[in-house]
Amino acid sequence: MRKDRDALHPSPNLFDYAEERETFSWERARELLDGLPEGKGLNIAHEAVDRHADGLLADKVAIRWLGKKGERRDITYRDLSAETSRFANALRKLGVAPGERVFVLMGREPELYVAMLGTLKAGCVASPLFSAFGPEPIAVRLAIGDGRVLVTTPGLYRRKVAGIRDQVDGLKHVILVGEGEAEGPGLHRWNAVVGNAPPDFTIAPTDPEDMALLHFTSGTTGRPKGAIHVHQAVVAHHVTGRYALDLHRDDVFWCTADPGWVTGTSYGILAPLTNGVTSIVAEAEFDAESWYEILEREKVSVWYTAPTAIRMMMRQGTDVVKDRDLSALRFMASVGEPLNPEAVVWGVEAFGLPFHDNWWQTETGGIMIANFAALDIKPGSMGRPLPGIEAAIVERGEDGGVEVIDEPMAEGELALRKGWPSMMRGYLHEEERYRKSFAGEWYLTGDLAQRDADGYFWFVGRADDVIKSAGHLIGPFEVESALIEHPAVAEAAVIGKPDPTLGEMVKAFVTLRPGHTADEAMRRELLGHARKRLGAAVAPKEIDFRENLPKTRSGKIMRRLLKARELGLPEGDISTLESDEK
Ligand code: AMP
Repeated sequence: MRKDRDALHPSPNLFDYAEERETFSWERARELLDGLPEGKGLNIAHEAVDRHADGLLADKVAIRWLGKKGERRDITYRDLSAETSRFANALRKLGVAPGERVFVLMGREPELYVAMLGTLKAGCVASPLFSAFGPEPIAVRLAIGDGRVLVTTPGLYRRKVAGIRDQVDGLKHVILVGEGEAEGPGLHRWNAVVGNAPPDFTIAPTDPEDMALLHFTSGTTGRPKGAIHVHQAVVAHHVTGRYALDLHRDDVFWCTADPGWVTGTSYGILAPLTNGVTSIVAEAEFDAESWYEILEREKVSVWYTAPTAIRMMMRQGTDVVKDRDLSALRFMASVGEPLNPEAVVWGVEAFGLPFHDNWWQTETGGIMIANFAALDIKPGSMGRPLPGIEAAIVERGEDGGVEVIDEPMAEGELALRKGWPSMMRGYLHEEERYRKSFAGEWYLTGDLAQRDADGYFWFVGRADDVIKSAGHLIGPFEVESALIEHPAVAEAAVIGKPDPTLGEMVKAFVTLRPGHTADEAMRRELLGHARKRLGAAVAPKEIDFRENLPKTRSGKIMRRLLKARELGLPEGDISTLESDEK
C-alpha cells in the first residue's frame, strides 16, 4: 500500500534537510513570492490571491467550501480575487483607513475568507475571533485591538455583540452576513455594502513591516495578548507550507483548525493559497464519520489536524477507516498539542501513514519545528527546526540573559533565534510583556523541551504546567502518553497537586474509551500500568475519571483549569474554553 502511494506521489519538497538548512536564507525565500507590482512593497493578499488570479491558476479552485447542510461551493482564484476586491472597496467606501482593525466573528463560511483577505488587500489589519466566544471575551479583544469594523452574522451579533456595544466605542461598522434581524448603530448588510461593490481593486501599497494580522492568545493569567504580525509573515507561511506540510501544486489540502485560532489563518487560509493549491473548508465541527467521508470524497492529499481530533478518531478504532478509499492521502500532520507516540503509530495502522507532529505558537506565526516528509519520524518528538529557524534549549539566568544548554536531552526552555519573517512584532499596547519574551538574540517560548543527539526536539510541557515532585521535574506529556498507551484510556491530563511530603504530587484525569467502566478496579489497573511504565517517582498517585476534559477551542487540554478546580482556586481567563467536564 505504502509503496504504491510512494510511486504515485511527488517527491518531498524538503529532500536533503542538511543541505537545505545550509543554503537557505529568508532573503532568497522572499524571491519565491512576487511583491507588489512596481516595487510597491509586499502584501499577503497579493501573494495568496491576486498573483494567481492574474496568472495560470485563475480558474483553479482556491477554496472548496463544504457547508454543514451538504452545500458545496467552489471558489476559483479569479472569484476570490473579485470577491476580496469587493470587500476592500466596501471598506474604503465606509471610510475605513489602512492600518485600522477589522475583526471577524463567524464560523467557516465563505464570507469569512473573503473578509480576512479583503481586509489585507485594503491595507487594514485582520483579526479573527472564535465564534464560540461569549460577549465578554469579544468586548475585551475588540477594545484591546481598537476594532473599527466587525464582520459577523445577525444571530451572533444579537447574542454576543449587541449587549457590549457601549464598551467598544471605537467599533463604527458591523457588516452582517446572511439573513436575520439585528439592530444597532452602524449595521450594514453584506449584500448591500460588499455584494454591490466593484470587483476591481488595486492593492494598497503595504510595506513588508506593516501590521497585517492581530492574533489574540490568552496567557495563563492576565488579559489576552494581541500578537502583531506583519505582511512579511507571508514568506514564512509560504515556505513552511512547502517544507513542513509538503504542499505541491496538485494537492487538495485540508486544515481542520478553527478560524479563530492562528492555525486557521496561517494554514487554514494563507499557506495553501500562496502555494496555489485547492483548500478544503468544511463548515461543520468534528464528527469522525463525516471527516472520513470528506477525506475520501474530496480526495484530500495533505491533511493538517490536531491531537484532540486524532484521539477522538482513535476511540473508534481502525475498522471505520479500512472501508474507505483514502489512496489520495499522502501526508498527515498535527499541531497544537503534544502528539502522543501512540497516535503516530495509530496513524500507520489506520491510514498506512504516520502523523507528522509539528510545533509552533501564535507568536511564531508559522511552523517552527516539524517532522518532515522525507525524514524519519521519532514518534513523540516534535521534529527538527525548519530551514531558516534556529532553535535551542536554554536556561534563564538571574541577570535576564540566557545560557544555551548543548547537552543532549537536557531539559530547559525552548528558544528561537530572532529574525524569521512571521515572528510577532509586538503585543499590541503591551510593550513590557513583549520585551519580556526576549533575551538578547533569543525569543523565549515558555515551553520546556529537550533536544536529542540527532537534533530532534521533545516537548516536556508548558513551563507553567511542569510538575516538581520529590525533586524530579516531571512533564505532564510524558505521563499522559504512558496513560493513553493503555487500551482503556482515550485521553489523559496530568497536573501537580501540592503535597506536604513531595512538594507536588502527580495527579491524572482520565477519560475512557467506550466499553470500559470507570471503577476502582480500573483505577488500580491504570495506577499499576503507569507505575510499570514510568516508575514510582513519576507515575500518578491519584487518578480521577472524567466524561470529558476541559479544552480550548483549538483543542488544547486546559491543565491549569483542572488544577484550579482541584485546588478550589480562581479559574482565571477561561474565554477560550470549549468543552467542559462539568
Ligand atoms: P497557541 O499559541 O494557542 O497556538 O499555543 C501554542 C502552544 O501550544 C505552544 O507553546 C505549546 O505549548 C503548544 N503546542 C503547539 N504545538 C505543539 C506540539 N506539536 N507539541 C506540543 N505542544 C504544542
